[in-house]
Amino acid sequence: MSEALNEDGYTVRLTERRLVAEGTMAFHFEKPAQFVFAPGQFVDFTLLQPSETDAAGNTRTFSIASAPQESTLMVATRLRDTAFKRELQRMPIGATLRMEGPFGKLVLHADQTRPAVFLAGGIGITPFRSMVVHAALQRSPHRIVLFYSNRRPEDAAFLDELQALQEKNPHYTFVGTMTEPGKSSRAWQGETGYINAALLSKHLVNVEKPIYYVVGPPGMVTGLRTMLKDAHIDDADIRTEKFAGY
Ligand SMILES: Cc1cc2nc3c(=O)[nH]c(=O)nc-3n(C[C@H](O)[C@H](O)[C@H](O)COP(=O)(O)OP(=O)(O)OC[C@H]3O[C@@H](n4cnc5c(N)ncnc54)[C@H](O)[C@@H]3O)c2cc1C
Repeated sequence: MSEALNEDGYTVRLTERRLVAEGTMAFHFEKPAQFVFAPGQFVDFTLLQPSETDAAGNTRTFSIASAPQESTLMVATRLRDTAFKRELQRMPIGATLRMEGPFGKLVLHADQTRPAVFLAGGIGITPFRSMVVHAALQRSPHRIVLFYSNRRPEDAAFLDELQALQEKNPHYTFVGTMTEPGKSSRAWQGETGYINAALLSKHLVNVEKPIYYVVGPPGMVTGLRTMLKDAHIDDADIRTEKFAGY
């Protein structure tokens, strides 16, 4: 059982760890009974008594990648060689961490007459996975188009699942794009190159007045915001979240 909320947040137990792309791991935790979140929100995880630590400290922020209807809380991260991530990988199943949250306002707008266009770079997919799995399970009529950019299919966490969700939700479209498909050993029939204005125009025919959501490394988010502004998208219709630390 996960333990109760106290003033420092929740103590949550690791239940599963699995690779979801090359060098990218999903971590599942028991969901505390009192814990409620909206798809798109994030939490802070703090290591309890780690065997090593570094200048960046024992806490990292992660978007919740699971949907509220799923039984566990799941986050996913690139496995870089930092003390925090080494510790996360060697923690035994059943070990506990401190979790604070949920935080953040990057949640799907309520007005279902306006489509949502999600632009994800790499591990920036995590909040969008929560949102699109939630929409499918809820049978939401909300129109959603997800653009997902990675270097190669091997690097794209949840790729097959995000593609397959189109069969469960007629209002959802998935557009994957690979920037270095030539370096892949896996066949790729989808789009290639970076997310840009031409790619959006090609796939957003009949998608009227959407609200755009951009998540990923800071450089990618800044670049896509500029691209959207150059395309005369109103500031109020662009929501962003930068994964500081990448
Ligand atoms: C709102 C929000 C949501 C987030 N959600 C997620 C999420 O869902 N998944 C996720 O993975 N991350 C997420 N992040 C980022 C996360 O909090 C960490 O910052 C990130 O995972 C990097 O942690 P780290 O331990 O690898 O590097 P840190 O130790 O935090 O790195 C500190 C600095 O060192 C540099 N650095 C470290 N290792 C390397 C390396 N191998 N190569 C180059 N530079 C390096 C980094 O550029 C960084 O500036 C989120 C951040 C925010 C603000």
